[in-house]
Amino acid sequence: VLATPLGPGPEFDRIRAIAEALGADAPGLGDDCALLEVGGRWLALSIDAAVEGVHFRRDWLTLEEIGWRAAAGGLSDLAAVGAEPAGALVALTVPRSSPPGQEVALMRGVAAACRTVGGQVLGGDLTGGDGLVVTVSVVGWAERPLRRRGARPGDGVWVTGTLGARAALAAWSAGRAPLPGSRAAFARPEPRIAAGRWLAGAGATAMIDLSDGLAGDAAHLASAGGVGLEIELERLPLGAGVAEEAAAAGEPAPAFAARGGEDYELLVTLPPGGPPGGSPAPLTRIGTVVPGSGARLTLDGRPLALRSFDHFA
Ligand SMILES: [Mg+2]
Repeated sequence: VLATPLGPGPEFDRIRAIAEALGADAPGLGDDCALLEVGGRWLALSIDAAVEGVHFRRDWLTLEEIGWRAAAGGLSDLAAVGAEPAGALVALTVPRSSPPGQEVALMRGVAAACRTVGGQVLGGDLTGGDGLVVTVSVVGWAERPLRRRGARPGDGVWVTGTLGARAALAAWSAGRAPLPGSRAAFARPEPRIAAGRWLAGAGATAMIDLSDGLAGDAAHLASAGGVGLEIELERLPLGAGVAEEAAAAGEPAPAFAARGGEDYELLVTLPPGGPPGGSPAPLTRIGTVVPGSGARLTLDGRPLALRSFDHFA
């Protein structure tokens, strides 16, 4: 049984089965980071794989950007618990046929993403294989970590930044070049480390990063806290190119943004009074925590059933 219950979906059913099989050998699964108490503070750890053809394509992004994105995805999990990064360990699998130098370009991207949030490359591993796989393990420290559980009925639901970086993916998939703003949001997401730490100290009750999409990640936050989340999609702050790509897909723009991952923003619950001033990132209130279960999404008052990205759906 997961220490932090997850929302619905085949990917998460598989994770539940792993947790059930391991039992007491894996007692802390289900949050954005593993948290170990060390000398009065908390060591935060997380690991993520980025797989060519699944998470990225080399004709869409440069190798530096692929490295940056892989590192930013891990660092975003540190942001979600309010941790300060120490850095990243990177296991690289590179096609045996690839020219030397590709791994250097990729690791420059990893290092640049770590540097922007005060972290370093701490170590790694290099192997030859059939495709490119970048597995990033991040390490950080938190004085008072925030978890996915902890939201209380009456809390507000807030999100940092803007959503809809999947607009770039939609453009590429349709054979078009993305608008510059949406390409930048996809290629170089900025991990919300400063905002995560600030929110942890500003009375936030629960937090998760939006790696899989608002619809699914809101359901995780609800399951973890044993509460319901009501989200008004018309309130979503939308990023560059979202309106254009949503129109091309024949979908309301907020629904388009809520279905997709790739954003690496934070979804956070705060007491009814809202956050104090001085947030290092824009914060938008998009809903309310209620008694019950699951995430209920509405657009202009009408319920919408949306699915997020799931590797096994
Ligand atoms: Mg996460």
